[in-house]
Amino acid sequence: MSRRTFIKITAVAGATVAASRLFSHPALGSVVYSPELPGGEGVITEKWVPTSCLNCDTRCATRVRVVNGRAVKVTGNPLSRVSEGENCARANVGLQVLYDPARITAPLKRTNPAKGRGIDPGWTEISWEQALSEVGDKLKTLREKGQPERLLLLSGLNTVSAEDIIRRFAGAYGTPNLVSADGLNNEADKAGEWMADGHYTQSAYDLERTNYILSFGASILESYKPLARSLRMWGKIRGERPNRAKVVVIDPRYSVTALRADQWVPINPGTDGALALAIAHAIISEGLYDVDFVNNRTSGFDEYKKLVLDYYDPDTVSGITGIPAETIRQIAREFAATGPAIAWRGRGATSWPNGSYTSYAIFCLNALVGSIDVPGGVIYQENPPYRPLPEPAEDDTAIKGRARPALDLRKTERFPAAEVVTNQVADSILKNNPYPVEMAIGFNSNFNMSAPGTGRWDAALEKIPYYVHAAPFISEMAEYADIFLPLTTFMEEWAYDHSPPGSGFAEVRIKQPVVEPLYNTRNNIDIIFNIAGRLGGTVEQSFAGIGDDAGGFVKYRTAVLAPWNKLLEQGVWVGPDYEYYKYDRIFKTPSGKFEFRSGNLEALLKEQGEEINSLTGLPYYREVQYLGDSSDYPLLLSTYQPLLNVENGSQNYPWAQEMFLVMHGAGWTNFVEINRRTAQKLKIKDGDTVWVESPFDRIKTKARVFEGIHPGVVSIAGGQGHRAYGEWAKGIGVNPNEIIGVDYDRLSGQAALFNTRIRVYKA
Ligand code: SF4
Repeated sequence: MSRRTFIKITAVAGATVAASRLFSHPALGSVVYSPELPGGEGVITEKWVPTSCLNCDTRCATRVRVVNGRAVKVTGNPLSRVSEGENCARANVGLQVLYDPARITAPLKRTNPAKGRGIDPGWTEISWEQALSEVGDKLKTLREKGQPERLLLLSGLNTVSAEDIIRRFAGAYGTPNLVSADGLNNEADKAGEWMADGHYTQSAYDLERTNYILSFGASILESYKPLARSLRMWGKIRGERPNRAKVVVIDPRYSVTALRADQWVPINPGTDGALALAIAHAIISEGLYDVDFVNNRTSGFDEYKKLVLDYYDPDTVSGITGIPAETIRQIAREFAATGPAIAWRGRGATSWPNGSYTSYAIFCLNALVGSIDVPGGVIYQENPPYRPLPEPAEDDTAIKGRARPALDLRKTERFPAAEVVTNQVADSILKNNPYPVEMAIGFNSNFNMSAPGTGRWDAALEKIPYYVHAAPFISEMAEYADIFLPLTTFMEEWAYDHSPPGSGFAEVRIKQPVVEPLYNTRNNIDIIFNIAGRLGGTVEQSFAGIGDDAGGFVKYRTAVLAPWNKLLEQGVWVGPDYEYYKYDRIFKTPSGKFEFRSGNLEALLKEQGEEINSLTGLPYYREVQYLGDSSDYPLLLSTYQPLLNVENGSQNYPWAQEMFLVMHGAGWTNFVEINRRTAQKLKIKDGDTVWVESPFDRIKTKARVFEGIHPGVVSIAGGQGHRAYGEWAKGIGVNPNEIIGVDYDRLSGQAALFNTRIRVYKA
């Protein structure tokens, strides 16, 4: 039967066919690159496959339309309660991830021993057997030498199931050196919550029921996770309820979130902690706090009250933040009166030296107005009840290796509260501190692009004697690999997933292959099972009986949730409704209450031998130490993450490039945003080519004169400036991480991203 006369629809019908489209590329002219309905004569089969997205770590439940074996459309999964069947604009980019012509189709081996930027690795294709046997032999030798800690595992954006398997492998092999990208984004945020309530986690906010959002640098509509949930809830609370929630955004830059808010309050960069304490001052001095919650559910209030009343008067703080004292009081009154209210801290406020204390100061505002574990306040994310894994088998080598200090100096005097200090690893490799790295494996990581001080990472990767990179594409980091293992993309593989804290209730997504793997590629879970088998002994035993491969592992871990066929058919499992008011069990603090003076922090600092004084354990504001002298470098550099920055590392996607800077109506580029008055002073016009120079390096880009940026700050969107990947990413725009200096929040080890001074001048 011909295509014209018969269409067989196996699942949901009625979706539109993705049309092919012309894209204009500034350098390449026009290109056609879009999934289209397969043509030709013959029967058309169509199905919708439930799976999940991995273009950011929200990992939304999706459904993909597949026509004659070709994926052509992505939508949300209506059974997902987290995103309520919606997703963000990046979901469809998943099709271009799958069909990206820059994907690597078979394992590669380096033939050129020289490594460095711009050096051709001289790749040659090899078989999987050759690749995995070589990697297995290297791992075996290192372990036999009794040095398993000299293996470094680097993890970028992976599925939750892959993260679980990589973590298990690190433990069974015996290395403490599993390093994720969290230290570049989330750690100060987590440490702030830990000081107050003992949970070292990103906070969850009950957006659906809140009446007031006070955002400190949180990019709620572009990059804060779980993004699709925030977007959906924003629509609900701002457009679908009779009592529209109010949103106030504190940010030196007029972001998309600020654009959509009721009030934008520009602030002097790095002063959010002082503002939070001044808001507390106004709430306490005007008697607006929740007396019942403060008296019964918190400790340390008297010391906190004394601190804020003594030091953080809005009139004084106005001089620090640049925000009029009356505006500070107005925000404080509204925040206290319009409950339930949320004080939401984002990367813009916390990615600074002292970021943990800023995070803590902002978080305390929620307790002041009783917005803790109540509808519309801060809530506590339930984890999915996956079937537990058996204890891994271990031998002396693993026990001793894991006991060695970690390369990132976590939990040391340098970074006492840290769980991971991503950016420290490059320096530790270069200095053999505390020991040399003999081998590293990167799973979808790309730190010589995404971490500040990219040059250090290049030098570190060059120094590692044997580097293996696993990813679907050749990234900047992959260019240093001795062996490249090509991975499947997320539409071709098995996995289970869930989102970062946000919804409160648990939700699991099953990722199943939407199409057969297109090339000779493998899932990273399968790779680890294979390598564990080659290593034998306790490493192999640790992977026995948990499913044998990726599909089996997913089945094993989710067997307790629902029957397998139902999981595959629905694509999601949703846990019970969230339970509020769990005050008898949520606070993991010495007092068992919410702590305005942190007992957890005090105990940790005591353990590190630090002197304890009357201010220890209290949130406080300290003036930022900047990198660079203000007389030579009068401006500050800020970066932001636009919605169309695809977080799987690559930007080789025309759909994302075309709309990259929505606020500016610009694509296929990024540029330096500079305030009109600043530009006038520097005699820079819109569109001029300029140098942006820090004490560490300089980059050349175009100027965009923009009213929505603080006069003392310039801003560059992250995500461009690739020198690897395919033709739609390579050479487009600049990477601001090239010129950002290396600094940290001392407690959590979070990379300080915004305290680098720069100057801008015409090129
Ligand atoms: S929020 Fe993240 S996971 Fe969800 S659709 Fe967008 S890119 Fe994909």
